[in-house]
Amino acid sequence: MRIIILGPPGSGKGTYSSRLAIKLGIPHISTGDIFREEIKRGSELGNSISNYVSSGKLVPDDVVNMVIEKRLSQEDCREGFILDGYPRTLNQAEFLDGISKIDVVINLNVPKEVIVRRLSSRLICKNCGAIFNKITLPPKVEGICDKCGGELYQREDDKPEIIRRRIELYEKEIAPLLEYYRKKGVILDFYESDGSGREISLDQVIEKMVEALKKYL
Ligand code: ADP
Ligand code: ZN
Repeated sequence: MRIIILGPPGSGKGTYSSRLAIKLGIPHISTGDIFREEIKRGSELGNSISNYVSSGKLVPDDVVNMVIEKRLSQEDCREGFILDGYPRTLNQAEFLDGISKIDVVINLNVPKEVIVRRLSSRLICKNCGAIFNKITLPPKVEGICDKCGGELYQREDDKPEIIRRRIELYEKEIAPLLEYYRKKGVILDFYESDGSGREISLDQVIEKMVEALKKYL
């Protein structure tokens, strides 16, 4: 199955897509992860994009498109893939149409206040970048990373006003893409909760997602 996943910051997009990929036996392809990896390795590609990534600006379409074309041509993508962080512009969506069929676009819908609550309780390790959460995933020792013993901190942009602003920016950015894929009839609007206000576990969310995807097989 060829899947695109769209969702605002704090929607659980990264977690859901990596879990879903394992469940479906297809690769999880995150352009953000690919770029960070290339930058860390100091590759030619990494050096050419590090300024964009460190300032949060979009990497030029030509570069992103080339990276994705190469990645999707690899053997492990034959049975499908989950794209996370791509496409982000109409140009990218049109390019993608030229190189691959897309079966479904999962649109994660999470209420703004839920995102604000989640992100403003997020903690990150200064040393290894591991992510914890004061509410849902507390570290064993307060303020200390379970994985490496590093110090945990709160990101400057995980403050409530800034989170709301980031969500609005995301909505603006993604609106043309949603319209583009709605016209094609491939959008799966996904709500993680059942509307009752009850929290459901990660496993339950993934199960619900797999069930909803069956219609698009
Ligand atoms: P963020 O939510 O901060 O954008 P990501 O991990 O998705 O985090 O991406 C990190 C960075 O990589 C982005 O800020 C951008 O510079 C670059 N990037 C990732 N995906 C794309 C894309 N599809 N088009 C352009 N730039 C991208
Ligand atoms: Zn750590």
